[in-house]
Amino acid sequence: MKNEKLQFKIQNFKKIKEELPRIQKNIPLAKYTTFRIGGPAKYFFEAKTKEDLIEAIRFAQSKGLPFFVLGGGSNLLVDDKGFNGLVIKMKNERCKVQNKNSKFKIIIAEAGVILSDLVELSLKNNLTGLEWAAGIPGATLGGTIHNNAGAFKISIADIVKTVEVFDTADSKIRNLDVKKCNFGYKQTIFKQQKNLIILSCIIQLKKSTKEAVKEQINYVLNYREKNHPMNFFSAGCIFENPLKIRAAELIQKCGLKGKKIGDAQISEKHANFIVNLGSASSKDVLELINLAKEKVKDKFGIELKKEIQVINT
Ligand SMILES: Cc1cc2nc3c(=O)[nH]c(=O)nc-3n(C[C@H](O)[C@H](O)[C@H](O)COP(=O)(O)OP(=O)(O)OC[C@H]3O[C@@H](n4cnc5c(N)ncnc54)[C@H](O)[C@@H]3O)c2cc1C
Repeated sequence: MKNEKLQFKIQNFKKIKEELPRIQKNIPLAKYTTFRIGGPAKYFFEAKTKEDLIEAIRFAQSKGLPFFVLGGGSNLLVDDKGFNGLVIKMKNERCKVQNKNSKFKIIIAEAGVILSDLVELSLKNNLTGLEWAAGIPGATLGGTIHNNAGAFKISIADIVKTVEVFDTADSKIRNLDVKKCNFGYKQTIFKQQKNLIILSCIIQLKKSTKEAVKEQINYVLNYREKNHPMNFFSAGCIFENPLKIRAAELIQKCGLKGKKIGDAQISEKHANFIVNLGSASSKDVLELINLAKEKVKDKFGIELKKEIQVINT
């Protein structure tokens, strides 16, 4: 009986592979996240082009499979049980620089481009506007736009001009002007409308000098090294900052710096980071998140809102 079941599963997967040849099965997701936490994806597919991405989405839709678009996994907590659907890993990584006028250049980049590679490219071309992103590990441009990530009072919204999206609701590709992206603090149309998948974008950077860009990048890298737990696995800041106060300060004032559950710890360096000391589970991290929320609510009456996204289907 067991053998028959296994045989059926193998046959079934063979059929699936005929429809989406590069699809993989039971792929552990931990190594695709900067937290190094998370169980397997039932199905996994690397989209190297926008055509790949659209094909994978159509495949999932035709099978009624839930799907999840994965960037660099640098703002995610994946459940220990994994994801019972198709994870589409963005690997479309083409980009090119073009002259716009005497002051600006534009970069046309696909969603899977790694943010730190873009920082390098901007330095190579003496362009300013992306230095804040130096030192963020693994993140892709798509995930960065989805989250409107930023630092030092600048965010990706400040340099994005247009975003090309695939709308899973009507299977159409369209271009969104920056005004249509509803960018706000950690807010975007992409968080509100899950049907919009980012394919590529145009960003505009100002011409500067190599020395000035390099100096700013070094400042950002030194700041992160000094203030963030860069030697540990993490997913960046766990909570959004409430109005006029930093979440880290609230958590620290609750005496939670260094608090451990299992192998997860509220960072001793920065209380809005939770670090994986080696073999933390998603359960360990979630318990710490709930503890921090509870203590901050009790002490200050403030409801902390998660910045990271928890993946559990
Ligand atoms: C050490 C460290 C430092 C960090 N510092 C900062 C910081 O200074 N500022 C900051 O804002 N963040 C920071 N982060 C958080 C994180 O890097 C950003 O939020 C990042 O931009 C997320 O990009 P990603 O590609 O990793 O997205 P993922 O974590 O893979 O995904 C995030 C969300 O984006 C969605 N997504 C990904 N690609 C697409 C796409 N093509 N189309 C539609 N949706 C998509 C995913 O489905 C998911 O919902 C830090 C993280 C770490 C680990």
